[in-house]
Amino acid sequence: MADCVEKERRVITHQIIITGIVQGVGFRPHVYNLAVGFGLNGVVLNDSRGVTIEIQGAREKILSFEKELKSNPPLRSRIDSFDIEAVETPDTHKFFSIGETKSYDEKIAQVSPDLDICDSCLNELFNPGDRRYLYPFINCTHCGPRFTIIKNVPYDRPYTTMEQFVMCSECKVEYEDPGNRRFHAQPNACPMCGPRVALTDNHGKELLVGIDSSGNKAVFEKLCELLGCGKIIAIKGIGGFHLACDALDEVAVANLRSRKYREDKPFAVMFPTLESIKDFCMLREQEESLLQSVPHPIVIVEKKRGRDVAFSVAPNNHFLGVMLPYSPIHHLLFHFYSKPLVMTSGNVSDEPIVFTNSEAYRRLSGIADFFLIHNRDINTRCDDSVYRIWKGLEYPIRRSRGYAPDSVRVEWEFEKQVLACGPEQKNTFALAKNDRVYLSYHIGDMDNYEVLRSFEEGIAHFKNVFDIEPRIVAYDLHLDYLSTKYAENYPDKTKSGDSVIKVGIQHHHAHAVSCMAENGVNRPVIAVTLDGTGYGEDGTIWGGEILLSELDKYSRLGNFETVPMPGGAASIKNPWQMAISYLYSIYNRKLLDVNLPFLDKIKENELELVFSMLEKGVNSPMTSSCGRLFDGVAAIAGVRNSVNYEGQAAVEFEQYIQERSNIAYNFKLLDKQEKFIIQWRSMIIQLVGDVKSGKSVGEVSLKFHNGLAKVLYEAVVKSKEITGISYVVLSGGVFMNVHLLTRLHKFLEDGGFTVYIHRQVPANDGGIALGQAVIAGAKHLKGTI
Ligand code: ZN
Ligand code: ZN
Ligand code: FE
Repeated sequence: MADCVEKERRVITHQIIITGIVQGVGFRPHVYNLAVGFGLNGVVLNDSRGVTIEIQGAREKILSFEKELKSNPPLRSRIDSFDIEAVETPDTHKFFSIGETKSYDEKIAQVSPDLDICDSCLNELFNPGDRRYLYPFINCTHCGPRFTIIKNVPYDRPYTTMEQFVMCSECKVEYEDPGNRRFHAQPNACPMCGPRVALTDNHGKELLVGIDSSGNKAVFEKLCELLGCGKIIAIKGIGGFHLACDALDEVAVANLRSRKYREDKPFAVMFPTLESIKDFCMLREQEESLLQSVPHPIVIVEKKRGRDVAFSVAPNNHFLGVMLPYSPIHHLLFHFYSKPLVMTSGNVSDEPIVFTNSEAYRRLSGIADFFLIHNRDINTRCDDSVYRIWKGLEYPIRRSRGYAPDSVRVEWEFEKQVLACGPEQKNTFALAKNDRVYLSYHIGDMDNYEVLRSFEEGIAHFKNVFDIEPRIVAYDLHLDYLSTKYAENYPDKTKSGDSVIKVGIQHHHAHAVSCMAENGVNRPVIAVTLDGTGYGEDGTIWGGEILLSELDKYSRLGNFETVPMPGGAASIKNPWQMAISYLYSIYNRKLLDVNLPFLDKIKENELELVFSMLEKGVNSPMTSSCGRLFDGVAAIAGVRNSVNYEGQAAVEFEQYIQERSNIAYNFKLLDKQEKFIIQWRSMIIQLVGDVKSGKSVGEVSLKFHNGLAKVLYEAVVKSKEITGISYVVLSGGVFMNVHLLTRLHKFLEDGGFTVYIHRQVPANDGGIALGQAVIAGAKHLKGTI
């Protein structure tokens, strides 16, 4: 009995090291309050690894404290590791305190993605008695910008863009009080001491400034008056500028389209409330929760039939990208304006999103009539993320704000630090060290100087905050990609003189491994990789490949029959050229006798040019691309002859499907000596018959999708016969097609295969960098580079 009491009283000390997303999410005040609640002494501090706690007191209480902290961490945190070590420290702590931030040499602290406004701050924002009433920069330890304002780690005010604002006495008291919700909230501010919004014309002339709550009220009231008369406003947000206009005002939206040079790629819409989305769209439960989740992505949902926002928002599209307000500025907008707003990235066509005030006036003054700017600088641009729900879970389309720079963990260690330069389209890059791959925000299509600059700045920033000095640089095999050229020009030695290994990674192998890596798969798999374009190792353009894939190597089990791409890249913009190519392979010039309606819209001289390219084999690279097959078939079916963005014909073709049934075209699977071939000839002949006999585009589309899923399933079955493997990954941009994904996935599961799909990074080229990084790391471990 006496022993027990003695044991109970004995003071012990534990050192706890926690890694994960534990900085900038209210972790230290949470630990402080918990420890004080248990009557424990000690100290908690941020360091470059994460959070370290020294906790001292009775053993039982410490165990309860640890259990409670582990099972109920702060709302927006994520614990990756929780290591406890008993230490022999004298009974020195007289109370619990929050210590000074320590800087370690090795900076592996996680930088938190940006957080949406929390409920407590939202209540204060609209409480007339609160000193931050209507203040657009209200935040606390649970909410506010993070990644986009961080210049360096550890996450402390001097290392953020808030450094220029000196806290007033009231803010300072909050900031220094461990019991306060704003204790060490780095972006803490108020109307007295913090950033301000201003409404300006498109030359930068200030019209109204939000110096206090009535000033802010005036700014937002005026803004809403302007939106109400069809004006386009550039609004500075968390990761950059949005271009906003009333989503129900057709004239305003059409205006925005023509000024932005964006023909018909859909715009995203921000709605005031969940209820208001339901007026226009069908929402499933998981979509509702994703819309309200901390990252607040754009979610692709189905429009209600017969109910639509302005036609020009998402022309000819059954789906709409919707989101909810996530920053105080958005909430203020909808406090005064009750209609949905188009909120599209503030850029001109394919340039990166604008994120500084000076750049905004330079680049957007031809588009926006007025500007809502502010003086809290954005350090790193970050577009909105785009997701959809598939089979009840998140299926990424663009992984950026709210998710970046979160890492993907692998189950082994990188021996050398890696930089993966990513692909050309939808570029993201990645940096890897220890057991993590840090994925960048959306960089964009690397086809102009501005995007390249953004890419280079992003890599420099990531190297700094994650303290990574790459010894391996991975890049796509395509020599013309700007990301590949960047890798080529990358210094051969690090600053400390170590040599840098450069390794080219095949595009579809990278797709396959990105899916393997995020699913923790480390065994050989059959990879179905379908996309538009990727450089193949045999000199043809790949894009419909069945691979036997391992982390460090792959071989090609089969692919789609190749076909010329007359005009090369031009045929991507003009699906009719692909249509001619497929038809020509079967009918030669006699295809003109077939009398297909899509031919009527083609000019004779252009048709003749395509014929002569095909006949002479000039500018007609061979491709096995499944994306091009979609384009060609959609054109033959009469969907469209040319596109304004890659994949448009395929996207619209899929949406023609009305009913679900099993009718399907027949493809053929041919055994060749070294690999099998998926042949489309019989399918094209059946398709031509249907189009000639006037079958609807919807029926043709259904038959094509079903036939494709069926032959891909047969290809996987054949691959299993060859390899004995029954693990399958599905990757590549074509798997943005939900009908194909759903059908193939079901065939495979019913057939007893274990199927892995993307949940953390996009199946499209936005996920390539993850695959490149992992392949490079795995090759190095195997000693093959
Ligand atoms: Zn808050
Ligand atoms: Zn203040
Ligand atoms: Fe791809």
